[in-house]
Amino acid sequence: MSTSNLNPHIALLPSAGMGHLTPFIRLIPLLTSHNVKITVITPHPTLSISESESLSELFTSFPQVTRKQLHLPLPPLDDEPSSKSQDPFYNRFEVIRRSSHLLLPLLSSLSPPLSALITDMSLASTVIPITNSLQLPNYIFFTSSAKMLSLFLSFHALDDPKAKDFIEISGFEPIPKSWIPPPLLDDANNAMKIYFTECGKKMKESSGILVNTYESIEGESLKAFNSLPPVIAIGPLPPIKFERNQSLAWLDDQPAESVLYVSFGSRTAISREQIKALADGLVKSGKRFLWVVKDKKVDRDDETELVDLIGEELMERVKEKGMVVKNWLNQEEVLSHPAVGWFLSHCGWNSLTEAIWHGVPMLLWPQHGDQKINADLVERIGVGMWAKSWGWGDSVVVVKGDEIADTVREMTGNEFFRLRAAQVQDDARKAFGEGGSSYDRLNDLVDSWKCSP
Ligand code: UDP
Ligand code: UDP
Repeated sequence: MSTSNLNPHIALLPSAGMGHLTPFIRLIPLLTSHNVKITVITPHPTLSISESESLSELFTSFPQVTRKQLHLPLPPLDDEPSSKSQDPFYNRFEVIRRSSHLLLPLLSSLSPPLSALITDMSLASTVIPITNSLQLPNYIFFTSSAKMLSLFLSFHALDDPKAKDFIEISGFEPIPKSWIPPPLLDDANNAMKIYFTECGKKMKESSGILVNTYESIEGESLKAFNSLPPVIAIGPLPPIKFERNQSLAWLDDQPAESVLYVSFGSRTAISREQIKALADGLVKSGKRFLWVVKDKKVDRDDETELVDLIGEELMERVKEKGMVVKNWLNQEEVLSHPAVGWFLSHCGWNSLTEAIWHGVPMLLWPQHGDQKINADLVERIGVGMWAKSWGWGDSVVVVKGDEIADTVREMTGNEFFRLRAAQVQDDARKAFGEGGSSYDRLNDLVDSWKCSP
């Protein structure tokens, strides 16, 4: 089904959640600028409002991109408890995986014929057999770091990871067991473990693995992938500026680099007790702050009023130096705002690469999944401080306000992080800019589609 022409046609198939959708969206202008024709296959309906709004913005801004919907049968998953998760996003991954048979007719009907499909990593095991049957090259977009990719690709072959203090992966630095997502060390099968095992193994049969990273921060890991398929570092993918009506009036009134931005990404809710302690800590830190509060994993369910979460008295104190919201704020605009000086982050890979892109130093508070592995990477390059004693999201220990305040003061008082963030920002933009390592990798990839037999 592959074709030789100067305008290859590539289909993109993202999965659920903003962390998985956003990197696919960022790839689009880069490919269209190389005269690549794009079809985006969007699983429908989306789980969160933010996904559906981002897709609307995308198709409005890029009318030349074709949209095809993959209609999901809902409600799903009343069988097979082992593949059912408490996390609605994992459940949605599973629904999309089970709907992948709908892809075969869809892919074969696209015109002109496709040169390749780029799929989310969570779909590797179900989609690769389909693209193989069509003799269509299949690239996997891995939406986390190269270091995390090493775990993903090797997990199925590790012998009993929970029996060891460090996970040894040949060619890579050992990973402490305490950084491994707990569901992967669980005795019973669970959604994350099944997905790691099946997709990590099957990904080896893909035509290539795209990663939103770059050589100067993950050179060691990138060099260590020495067998097929090729791992292609194309990041950090720059954010797209869509037309928006977002008001950041409060930020506009703050002095340059004076505000700590606090966000735990698109799908991590912290406990109500921790929300109160965080409010207390931010107030006690004496810093200005802009805080996006999330009370539920899925934005559609997030209905409680802010004041009911934080309490009236604390809310009054918060308002003295801070701005707290519960709605979606476009993070890329926040991070690029001159008033923002630091970022307290849950260490989602997109958030970290965005902060690097904008030169914003970070206080790292990983919550789940890949986030400890990501935090370590950022700490090593000197752009952030990891509050290691604060634990993961599911730990029952609530970090107290006084401790948060002390750590915020320590981190924001350290000028080294800011200087280093400026250097790392410069390297990131060089990697992505003309002649940079990621720029060259992306060019080579597009050329390979143009020259394919
Ligand atoms: N994001 C945003 N506004 C918010 C929360 C998140 O724009 O209020 C964006 C953020 O910029 C990033 C993505 O949503 O691009 C979240 O991805 P990440 O990998 O950081 O974390 P996840 O949400 O997947 O845990
Ligand atoms: N989790 C989360 N945000 C993430 C990833 C995971 O809140 O970005 C939570 C998830 O809700 C669950 C835990 O982390 O409580 C482990 O998730 P997973 O679905 O992998 O495991 P399971 O719930 O099946 O044990």
